[in-house]
Amino acid sequence: MAYTAVIIGGGISGTLSAIALRKAGIDSIVHEAYDGTADNVGAFLTLAVNALDALRTLDVDISGLGFDTPRMTLTSGSGRKLGEMAYGTALPDGTVSRTVKRADLYRTLREQAVGCGVRIEYGRRLVDAEDTGDGVLARFADGTTAEGDLLIGADGLRSRTRGIIDAHAPGPRYAGLINTGGYAHGITLGGEPGMMNAIFGKRCFFVHTTHPNGEVWWMANPARATEPTPAEMAAIPPEEWRAWLIDLFRRDRGPAGAIIAATDKIFTGWKTYDVPTVPRWHRGRMIIIGDAAHATAPSIGQGGAMAIEDTVVLATCLRDTPDIASAFTTYERLRRERVERVVEQGNRTGGWKTLGPLARIPRDLIMSLGMKHMARTGNDPSRWIYDHHIDWDGPIRRSH
Ligand SMILES: Cc1cc2nc3c(=O)[nH]c(=O)nc-3n(C[C@H](O)[C@H](O)[C@H](O)COP(=O)(O)OP(=O)(O)OC[C@H]3O[C@@H](n4cnc5c(N)ncnc54)[C@H](O)[C@@H]3O)c2cc1C
Repeated sequence: MAYTAVIIGGGISGTLSAIALRKAGIDSIVHEAYDGTADNVGAFLTLAVNALDALRTLDVDISGLGFDTPRMTLTSGSGRKLGEMAYGTALPDGTVSRTVKRADLYRTLREQAVGCGVRIEYGRRLVDAEDTGDGVLARFADGTTAEGDLLIGADGLRSRTRGIIDAHAPGPRYAGLINTGGYAHGITLGGEPGMMNAIFGKRCFFVHTTHPNGEVWWMANPARATEPTPAEMAAIPPEEWRAWLIDLFRRDRGPAGAIIAATDKIFTGWKTYDVPTVPRWHRGRMIIIGDAAHATAPSIGQGGAMAIEDTVVLATCLRDTPDIASAFTTYERLRRERVERVVEQGNRTGGWKTLGPLARIPRDLIMSLGMKHMARTGNDPSRWIYDHHIDWDGPIRRSH
């Protein structure tokens, strides 16, 4: 179908939607709220093999970014190794999960979108949209408008499109964790570069991995049961983050304290959320995808992957069904069960990071037994997440 699409949001799902739609013969313009292309979040993320498989379907190449992270280890705060496992099954050609800086990823996706003819408009913050019967009209905060046959809300966790589609849509759910992290230099840890090392510390979760160039990339998740207000978060000066984190890891065996001390600039922390079930993903000619529809707690490292998969499936649905309504219904049928299962698993995994001292003992035991069982049987219970492949050329019903 020769539609034109208005895409809201120039993050992962917005830029990739534009690329996927172009491949499906559908034109679009991406409207991003922020001016310019500066992505201020300095953090990194891991694109698991299922995300890389979906990117490959779109001929999007990120192999120049970051580094391979094929395996992960789990360790307790007392320094006991609980197990080691693959970070998803390698793709048939040996491709493994890859860890990249978020800003590099966004820049590359935007360059590749522009390279295949996509227009990205910056400084366009969606405030409202209406279905005009034979099209859709989007209104932006700067007074401009955009028209198309359909509107794709790829506007993230705090999606405006979600509220336009359904004024009663649930918002983000605070997950009881703060995120922070950084890049450490001049510290030698031993161990393999690219190994993702997760430490379930006595008072805080920590994960670190070493770039082949020696830089140590890390994140920490201090638990905070009550959601801090933006003012409370803003009131913590940078040096206080460092002191707080070093104190949280003081009683742990392991490198967390040394890594934090070797980090020049610690990210100002941000709060963790998910969006478990949004009852309405679409109304008329408007639909939400990515975090706007199903934000996943970072604990499972799959939010970006789900957003990427969404774009491939939505493009095939728009290409292969007779009208927008059936494309959206088919899309939801193909995606809802999988993404909600992933969000649920992310929530459960996140819950393991917030346990008190008594509950930590059975948790470590369960993890250790689970990892041993996995090593013995080769049966990874997360395989359904990683082994997912979307068939671009086949009938859409096979895309699950
Ligand atoms: C700490 C942390 C670690 C994570 N780690 C991983 C990981 O390891 N692996 C993984 O796969 N995922 C990870 N994720 C999740 C991943 O980052 C998100 O799932 C992914 O970015 C979602 O992509 P998106 O395009 O839907 O939203 P976003 O990337 O957030 O993009 C939304 C875009 O919409 C724009 N926008 C917002 N409102 C408007 C508006 N009104 N008008 C126009 N534009 C608007 C925003 O400026 C933004 O550019 C992590 C997330 C966090 C917070």
